[in-house]
Amino acid sequence: MEQNSLREWEAKCIQEEPPRCKAACPLHVDGREFCKQIAAGQVDKAWAVLCRTLPFPAVTARICDAPCKNSCLREKVGGGIEMADLERFCAENTKRTPPFRPLPPRGKTVAVLGGFLPGLTAAWDLAKKGFTVTLFLKNTYEAFETLPQEWLTVDIFKHEIEVIKKMGVTFVENSTFDDTLDEESLKNFDAVFADPIACSPENLKISTPSLTTLETEKKGLFAASQPEKNASPITLIAIGRKGALSIERFMQNASLSAGRERDEPFETKLFTNISKVEPLAPIAVPKNGYTADSAKEEAARCLLCECMECVKNCVYLENFKEYPKIFARQIYNNASIVMGTRRANKLINSCMLCDLCTEICPESFSMKNLCIEARKDLVEQGVMPQSAHEFALRDMEFADSEACAINRHQNGFEQSEWAFFPGCQLPASDPDAVKNSYSFLCDTLTGGTGLMLRCCSAPADWSGIVDLFDKKSTELRSDWESLGKPKIIAACPSCMETLHKAIPEAEITSLWSLLCLYRKNLNPVLPKSIPALQDPCSARHNEKLLADVRILLTDLGLEFTEPELSGLHTECCGFGGLLSDANEPLSQKVAEHRASKLDGDGITYCAMCRDLLAKTGKRCLNILDIIFPSENTDPAARTAPRYSTRRENRVRLKEQMLENVWKTPSTPRPAYEAIKVSYTEEAQKHMEERRILVSDIKKTIEAVQKTGKVLENTDTGHKLIYHRPVTVTYWVEYEMVDGDTYLIHRVWSHRMKILGGSK
Ligand code: SF4
Ligand code: SF4
Ligand code: SF4
Repeated sequence: MEQNSLREWEAKCIQEEPPRCKAACPLHVDGREFCKQIAAGQVDKAWAVLCRTLPFPAVTARICDAPCKNSCLREKVGGGIEMADLERFCAENTKRTPPFRPLPPRGKTVAVLGGFLPGLTAAWDLAKKGFTVTLFLKNTYEAFETLPQEWLTVDIFKHEIEVIKKMGVTFVENSTFDDTLDEESLKNFDAVFADPIACSPENLKISTPSLTTLETEKKGLFAASQPEKNASPITLIAIGRKGALSIERFMQNASLSAGRERDEPFETKLFTNISKVEPLAPIAVPKNGYTADSAKEEAARCLLCECMECVKNCVYLENFKEYPKIFARQIYNNASIVMGTRRANKLINSCMLCDLCTEICPESFSMKNLCIEARKDLVEQGVMPQSAHEFALRDMEFADSEACAINRHQNGFEQSEWAFFPGCQLPASDPDAVKNSYSFLCDTLTGGTGLMLRCCSAPADWSGIVDLFDKKSTELRSDWESLGKPKIIAACPSCMETLHKAIPEAEITSLWSLLCLYRKNLNPVLPKSIPALQDPCSARHNEKLLADVRILLTDLGLEFTEPELSGLHTECCGFGGLLSDANEPLSQKVAEHRASKLDGDGITYCAMCRDLLAKTGKRCLNILDIIFPSENTDPAARTAPRYSTRRENRVRLKEQMLENVWKTPSTPRPAYEAIKVSYTEEAQKHMEERRILVSDIKKTIEAVQKTGKVLENTDTGHKLIYHRPVTVTYWVEYEMVDGDTYLIHRVWSHRMKILGGSK
């Protein structure tokens, strides 16, 4: 990933934008953190938050009139946070003020003319920055007389003046600025700030200073137009702060104006969802100000504004504990690693590519696009971990192999107006559903309905292997062309999406839209309970499909509910993006989460959604279960087939279709299939966890039958063998039973090669 594109990605996520209170505060006090600490009863920590930003905080916190209140997001749901009263409470109750640590002296001098709020602030800020400040004023307490004194006492004011003096500011009293500025005395300082309450531009014989920088035509002199009489104290303080910042830049020969768009109160881009926030009125302020309890209660009304919309709605993002702005940086860093551990690989390969985040994010941040680009990058660099997607890619090849694939016209036809494309997961999950659907389509449609039995190549696409996807797309196109470019009927929404990419010129329709069109011809058997509809995530942007499924179900007479996130905002079941291959535990967590969101039984139109939900113990139907009912009286209870069964289902489907539909004998099975095996429970558990197939075990036995290389445990009599048919070494521990059956006790696999081994 290029630096520029990283910046674009980072800028898109607005999670780190300030909350509205902070943006609206003329000094940009972090109201969110302040409220968080007060609500937690941490008064000193809350005070430290104020001290980070406020000059002479004991005064400022007591006189602030909180212009941020109207901008507070709580204003829309009950009333803005009473920030001014909370600040006062904090000032009155804190036990500890953090020590001030001015920067070391810089050897530069500044004169501040006037000791009202702008002048005092400039003196405070400049002294903190290490400048040697001389404050010219009429008398030290002239500012005090102008301040609201409901909460302020002269002693508090005096105390803060002492702090300013301790910071090294020299006070020169009895100064006047009623005439022209003494040019000579100005020459004694590197810069001058003129407090606009003490000396206006007219006094200074200058034209109106720059609003953004307070720069004047006199080099080194910074001033402001005279503020209105009833100007808010915090606005006056902000003038002094702006002057101090300009002087610092002036001394550093830096641009005075660059990047100052946010000096003033501004509109933040931060989005916070308040659609589910209950209105809550402000806690009334007692006559003597908030007590500890009432302050806590008021601060607890703060919404702690943040976005995190995508994270709140995606188990994957939540699992990785940060948010997309941070992820973009982690992924960028990952890409730049030449040697060493790429810690973000798991992050990159665990996204389900479901695109919910793009729909939910107010800025349309697409983690899907970020992660798929990152995957392509890893593949291109040759550093994609082989283990991430290997099983899925091998499964794709198997589905496309002679053992499972079919590409034929309808029996008795020389051409195909249509071609049914059930994908590879429906045949693996429920081969009868494929047979029934195909038979219905052949009976219903005219012009011939061919059958394309193979994988849509989504695993190649999702794993980021561009060359492989191109190769698979060419194969798909060639199959499609050999049938005369029929209209493709896809059973799976993911297939639809992938086929559109692979063969963009093909007309693709959904099985569900056709079933909807011909719904009068269907004789469904409806379930007894009301199921909840699970839209597959790949259907999210297919408005027609989403609508047709609902029309179909409704017109079939099925009552169903919808989870909160449905249709355009549906959640992935945990299969998308090959998550179950890259991060099985997370895939399970996602499936469990989704299952918990469906009231009662689920009903869906994606074989993988059904099977992954079923794996969590959720009762779930495929719509085909009610359209083409089988003898199974409780199809929602069907368990998810194991990996080996999924393969066997595909092979058997091909054999049965060839024999029953086309009356053609199928290819004989490989010899190793005749080996008799049975399994202990432990072995079966290992096989599922480690994705070791029956065929892997039988191939290992077959190989060892030839070499005779067997280890024997003389205590148990168990035999141990290994074989490396692909890039994986398989180990099998067995004992012979009933003369010719291999009872498998345990199985393992690893990527390491055994040196000196049989293969
Ligand atoms: S709700 Fe809290 S964080 Fe949000 S704007 Fe108001 S004070 Fe700030
Ligand atoms: S694409 Fe899906 S899984 Fe990936 S981050 Fe977005 S919502 Fe989460
Ligand atoms: S939804 Fe997510 S990606 Fe979008 S701005 Fe919010 S935190 Fe960032």
